[in-house]
Amino acid sequence: MDILLTGIKPTGKLTLGNYLGVMKRLKTYQEQYDCYFFIADLHALTLPIEPEVLKNNTLDVLSLFIASGINPKKSTLFLQSQVSEHAELNTILMNYLYMGELSRMTQFKSITEKMKNEAIGLGIFTYPVLMSADIVLYNASFVPVGEDQTQHVELARDLVHRFNKKYGDILTLPRTLVNTSSKRIMSLSDPSKKMSKSDPKGDIFLLDDEKTITKKVMSAVTDMVGKIQYDPTNQPGISNLINIYASLKSISIEEVENMFKDANYGTFKKEVAKAINDELTPLKEKYAKIRNSDELNSILALGAKKASERARPILNKVKKAVGLIVNE
Ligand code: ATP
Ligand code: MG
Repeated sequence: MDILLTGIKPTGKLTLGNYLGVMKRLKTYQEQYDCYFFIADLHALTLPIEPEVLKNNTLDVLSLFIASGINPKKSTLFLQSQVSEHAELNTILMNYLYMGELSRMTQFKSITEKMKNEAIGLGIFTYPVLMSADIVLYNASFVPVGEDQTQHVELARDLVHRFNKKYGDILTLPRTLVNTSSKRIMSLSDPSKKMSKSDPKGDIFLLDDEKTITKKVMSAVTDMVGKIQYDPTNQPGISNLINIYASLKSISIEEVENMFKDANYGTFKKEVAKAINDELTPLKEKYAKIRNSDELNSILALGAKKASERARPILNKVKKAVGLIVNE
């Protein structure tokens, strides 16, 4: 069975972007692949974060993963920091990605631009190295990500080519799986920017209450055109709402345009808000049960054990390939 792997950083409250971009599909993948789902808590340290916040976010994401239908017995669900093979492989792979290519990554460029007057830790620069390690450590063939992460997976592919050319057929070449219908969910207040949990203006959070969600959707930025049609250039706000509605209902953009061809923005927004609440209310109920249960620790222990059992032999293979001595 092919290996599928994906991670989410516990940097903030999960958004509708995270959910539609990736999380919603994981339950289906669980039936088709051998799945590794992890919380990228080491990656969350790449920008300043308070310890208590990180801890709470981590347990929130874990509970939301489970609430969205991931079965920790069937899939491997774990914390990146609890499987030390990630950090070990990171140290090795650092030498096979180059400073030039890392400095060209869009995520790195936009963060350094935004923080140009602040001290910036090295981790944000080497972020794609650890992400490559995360992926190749399990011989993952498929990596479902939102469109914003495809550049990093491309870089991981370059790394695999480079590494295998030098040492033989050691690493598996990963491929992204991007959900074409909801590849990038945009901010409701500035639809030129992606909805992002570490920059929460214009976000819908999965744990927002129904009223808040409705309020946020009703005040989403639109335009003066007055027609519900998909035109991201001239009507980015409406197009984003169409995209959200289509993803939630699993229908096409054209179907949404058709359904609402005579509706005004207010009516359409009400329906979008309702669709979001219909999806998220049951999710929140499940989340609340899991988050307050004492099972979380044993779920993490099981996940770390299963992940390490899979990762250790692959790490050893890499170590041997580069000439490190492994005591087995
Ligand atoms: P951060 O701002 O900390 O980077 P994020 O919201 O981008 O947070 P990540 O943990 O970086 O979340 O990403 C988790 C997954 O969600 C990734 O696969 C990413 O591609 C996807 N994702 C994030 N934002 C969106 C979005 N707006 N639309 C679709 N997918 C998204
Ligand atoms: Mg991100």
